[in-house]
Amino acid sequence: MKRGFLNSAKAKKETLYPAAAAPSQETASVSHPSQKVEFVSKPRYGKVENRELPGDYTPSKIPMSDMQSNGVYKDHFVNGFVFTTIPPKRDPAGNNTELLLHGPTKKKVLSTPGFLKPIPMPTGPVSYALRSTPDMGFGCFATRAIKAGDVIFAERPLLLVPMGMHVPNRAQIYERYGTHQGALVALAEWEKMLEVAVARMTEENRNAFMALANNHQEDGSGPIAGIVRTNGYMTDEIFDGPMKLPNNLNTYSAILKIGSRINHSCRPNVVHDFDLVSFSFSFKASKDIAAGEQLFYSYCDVNASASVRRSQLAPYGVVCKCLSCINATPASDKIRMEFNDRINDCAKWILDPRANVHHALKLRQDMVDEGLEGQLTYAYCVNFISGFYLLMEEPIKAQRFQAEFEKYNRLAKLRF
Ligand SMILES: [Zn+2]
Repeated sequence: MKRGFLNSAKAKKETLYPAAAAPSQETASVSHPSQKVEFVSKPRYGKVENRELPGDYTPSKIPMSDMQSNGVYKDHFVNGFVFTTIPPKRDPAGNNTELLLHGPTKKKVLSTPGFLKPIPMPTGPVSYALRSTPDMGFGCFATRAIKAGDVIFAERPLLLVPMGMHVPNRAQIYERYGTHQGALVALAEWEKMLEVAVARMTEENRNAFMALANNHQEDGSGPIAGIVRTNGYMTDEIFDGPMKLPNNLNTYSAILKIGSRINHSCRPNVVHDFDLVSFSFSFKASKDIAAGEQLFYSYCDVNASASVRRSQLAPYGVVCKCLSCINATPASDKIRMEFNDRINDCAKWILDPRANVHHALKLRQDMVDEGLEGQLTYAYCVNFISGFYLLMEEPIKAQRFQAEFEKYNRLAKLRF
């Protein structure tokens, strides 16, 4: 995922259903002779009462036998979308992704210059392991010290599916069943589509997929849709049509064997990067990580207040208990919300470095206190501080902050 500086606030593991107030804010209308019927693009979450499907509903059947030839799955088209596999010739090591994507988008992906490169190698020997946690299900832990910028692991997704629920005949479904039951039927039909993609996986990949967490057991999602909604990473490099829509509904969601096991914290120590050419996600340490520490990724906007973060995490079924959430105050909210403005102020402060260096040092300390050294803002900040000390003719201090900048710049890759 591309992230620009000062947009680093953007949710990294983009929620499929961001901050939706149940039942849903993402609706569109279809005409109906007697009433205005709305259909839901982003399904509801939380506990949905009365989840019974209409008695006359019969699930669609997608014939699996049409997809096989000599025991190997081939591409199968449904309403302009295609069930397919990357790489097309399956990798015996299991690095295969099953996809449901728009036909022209598949063509666009396969014609990426250099496609398909091998998956990047991690930095050094294996540095992580999955373990169960007392309160977060499984988690991913460092098995040795990891340095900021190191690649911890890289992997191809198990599954890649449209971010917006793709259901053929959705308008007719809503017209027939109305908003509440229409939403349930649409989810049931979506589950049928996802079942096909999962059935095409190798047994090992399917077992890994089905073992992932599902925090959507009471909102009408089927077991596969629940796993997709809980564990999806947005891949905004892949989108249908000429440009990405503001609501991200024409992008895709990737579910990963290891990456989807990384739990959330508002004090993250890991970032990810999706590379289209190798069709893989790399997970990198955003700060130094000690052996035994849990790896954390932020599913929400880390520069938002605690209450906004809480609402962004709700669709994942995550209640964050990180230090910053437990100890949140109006003052700590203000600090998080002002980081980006304060880094911009550094450009003014440096005009009078001696009078203002304390502002930049305070900004750095506030970011450390909030556990946000892995942010691009932090790399900018320490680079500014080094500049302040150079101008103040204090080369030893300047060098110290320059060294810190270079450490974090392994991720930020800033150029001045
Ligand atoms: Zn938190």
